[in-house]
Amino acid sequence: MPAEESTPAIVLRARDYAEADRIVTLLTRDFGKLSGIAKGAKASRRRFERKLEPFTQAILYFRRRPHGQLVFITRAERFDSAPPEFDELGKIALGSYMLELTDALTTEEAEAVAAYEVLASGLDVLGRRTPTMALRQAFELKILQAAGFGLEFGRCRLCSKPAEPEGGTVYFMTSRGGIVCAQCRGQAVESALRMDASNAAALARLSLTPLAEVATLPHGGSDSASAIARFLATILDRKLRSLDFLNSTM
Ligand SMILES: [Zn+2]
Repeated sequence: MPAEESTPAIVLRARDYAEADRIVTLLTRDFGKLSGIAKGAKASRRRFERKLEPFTQAILYFRRRPHGQLVFITRAERFDSAPPEFDELGKIALGSYMLELTDALTTEEAEAVAAYEVLASGLDVLGRRTPTMALRQAFELKILQAAGFGLEFGRCRLCSKPAEPEGGTVYFMTSRGGIVCAQCRGQAVESALRMDASNAAALARLSLTPLAEVATLPHGGSDSASAIARFLATILDRKLRSLDFLNSTM
């Protein structure tokens, strides 16, 4: 029998399977994204109860199977004695979006330590604070960065001129993964989204601030939200199910 392995993990999604089992997809710190089957999860309350639900952070114990993609989940242990609570609509909406976006930006068995750290931190902050647009936008930028899509809102992609916090106009281009300034706009033929430079500067600040400190900072406004949404639409192959619900709450 393969040896039992363990890692900190966050449950991204879970569903019942057959009479008594559960199939669970987790983002693990040490092994990237894994899907596994918890045999008898519905009956074995001691080993699994409420530890294999979305949002849960736990130590996952599992064994690999010689054939087949699903690992055998043997047990799970919470490591936080006071886990964050997701007990109101706004938190559930943003938390569900964090899970789904992370799921969409990661692939099974690929290293994902940075994404794990961003998601763990995002859920922890969300569990303890009010959901805000600043937290949402900071999370979006950081999880994109962890997935290899670092967006630049702080300075022009072409001449490196900083986006002025006092105002002016910059242009976000999905193909360049960032903004260009008004002077450089003429050199770039791609379609662009016009943004207030102060909003781009606010977004750049969010991307550089730890998630635990972003909730009360100024957010990047609706043009920043449009820029991020446009970029996500170009790299994701489907619309996220949690998006309409989230947008209806903030
Ligand atoms: Zn420029």
